[in-house]
Amino acid sequence: MNDSIDISKNLNIVRKKVKDACSRSGRKYEDILILAVSKTMEPGILKEAYDAGVRDFGENKVQEFLDKYEAFKETTDINWHLIGHLQTNKVKYLPGKTFLIHSLDSIKLAEEIDSRMGKENLSADVLVQINVAKEESKFGIYPEDAMDFIYEAAKFKNIKIKGLMTIAPDFEDREQVRPVFRRLFKIFVDTGSKNIDNVHMKYLSMGMSKDFEIAIEEGANIIRVGTGIFGKRVYK
Ligand SMILES: *Cc1c(COP(=O)(O)O)cnc(C)c1O
Repeated sequence: MNDSIDISKNLNIVRKKVKDACSRSGRKYEDILILAVSKTMEPGILKEAYDAGVRDFGENKVQEFLDKYEAFKETTDINWHLIGHLQTNKVKYLPGKTFLIHSLDSIKLAEEIDSRMGKENLSADVLVQINVAKEESKFGIYPEDAMDFIYEAAKFKNIKIKGLMTIAPDFEDREQVRPVFRRLFKIFVDTGSKNIDNVHMKYLSMGMSKDFEIAIEEGANIIRVGTGIFGKRVYK
């Protein structure tokens, strides 16, 4: 148990903000997936969120994800999202376990996912991570390379491209992220309109605790909220 954090109350605050952002921007609340980013949190904390209605959890490290996957093996209605940079040597642990991988960021990784999924007659739903602001500290495809990358990655038959993801820069003034989100939305629409085989631009994953309202206003339909639900992370 987490004594100081009321997860259910936090969730209701986030849900209310999502609703308000939806009304402001003519969106439907039901169309927004609030992904609870549970990295560093113990399974007991995830259980609290589950009891408060959460069914989608986001993890960023494969080993930690596998531990939690194991802890919730009996709970079959959880969707697990992998949101962190994925190393090719970890892909072999994933077939059949993820609902969505948010971080396809290289052809080498696409090859590995395709081959590992193929071995088990499975496929993986993935989002292409775009480094919209071209930050050196971040992974992802540059915006101008997105179209070519998607055409190339779409050739792997055991990968289903379902949309795009970005991590916005950590600007002091949160309004500065708006153009970043707007740019990704445009790429989402442009790449979606090409009707590329094997590509279905369904999900736009953008916005975190500090900026999810702006992300919704700019077209996000998955927001990734950690701190806003679980409180501050303590790294051991
Ligand atoms: C940690 C993380 C989040 C959640 O961040 P908060 O600021 O705690 O909401 C979202 N997306 C990614 C990729 C993350 O690693």
